[in-house]
Amino acid sequence: MSRPIQAHIELSALRNNLRVVRRASSARVMAVVKANAYGHGLLQAAEALSDADGFALLDVRDAVALREAGFRQPILLLEGFFSRDELPLLAEYELTTVIHSQQQIEWLEAYPRRNGLAVWLKINSGMNRLGFAAQEFPAVMERLKSHRAVREVTLMTHFALADEAPGVATQLSLFEQLTANHRLPRSLANSAAILHHPASHGDWVRPGIMLYGSSPFADVSAEALGLQPVMTLSSELISVREIKAGDAVGYGATFRAGQAMRIGTVACGYADGYPRHAASGTPVLVDGKRTHTVGRVSMDMLSVDLSDLPEARVGSRVVLWGEGMPIDDVARAAGTISYELLCALAPRVPVRR
Ligand SMILES: *Cc1c(COP(=O)(O)O)cnc(C)c1O
Repeated sequence: MSRPIQAHIELSALRNNLRVVRRASSARVMAVVKANAYGHGLLQAAEALSDADGFALLDVRDAVALREAGFRQPILLLEGFFSRDELPLLAEYELTTVIHSQQQIEWLEAYPRRNGLAVWLKINSGMNRLGFAAQEFPAVMERLKSHRAVREVTLMTHFALADEAPGVATQLSLFEQLTANHRLPRSLANSAAILHHPASHGDWVRPGIMLYGSSPFADVSAEALGLQPVMTLSSELISVREIKAGDAVGYGATFRAGQAMRIGTVACGYADGYPRHAASGTPVLVDGKRTHTVGRVSMDMLSVDLSDLPEARVGSRVVLWGEGMPIDDVARAAGTISYELLCALAPRVPVRR
């Protein structure tokens, strides 16, 4: 027998969540599958999302893998190419590339072939991470329009505040002003903007986290948005003990019992991708009932309070997140966001689909 931990990926939930995107927006859907589809497995997730109109990711090798698996949709490289050596691959596999820097334009201009590249020109509308500044945009647009290698241009930007106040208004209006004179397709919206800012949908929306069943908002649950969890991380109790008032649990003795307690040890630790920063009190399900962690998370194990769960015993099923245990609740208790937890699922955890 191996360790009882496993991640179950419910592919039908991905399809459900894509339908939620479709209900929210009539724009074409560029499904974001970067970071191994947010930890869910690139090819399997793409297969479940095969109704999407395109796929977006970072690594050209992953893009090639998608093409070779038979996907015919546009495949967008969200950070574009990282050297001129990648350009022949883009042409060969008909990959769409973001262009966000002068360096990339220079590489493109030095590239001799007329290869009909599709590019997404990224405008920095306030995130200040990638993209051309407003004052650079007109000249860049001219250079791309007259470029022999460029077949079509889509205009894009990315929001910093789609999920919270004051929202996208400033970035959206800058983008609209800049691009008003160009009859070109547009793309702006991530999950939060898809759900809260319909005016930003443009021609292509770019959902990521909502496809994986998590809420992009701190104050609205995934369930309330009609999203279903895709990844369920579960394990079992491998030890159960009684402790007395004053006894401590785990490294650093950070948790000390105020009265007699029943403590369970779960086969799941930070080497599985469970966040070490999850403080005592982080929610967890044991036999379908909600309880919480106690003490520090260690590499391969964590401890839970079973004082109110007299039936729990060695072998009881524990759900760390997913079905019945919203990952957003776990992330909040650990001072992070669901994105980080999903992406950090460790390769040693067996995945069942
Ligand atoms: C990751 C990413 C997205 C998806 O964002 P979510 O918040 O996961 O929906 C969209 N656009 C770009 C440029 C991204 O990098």
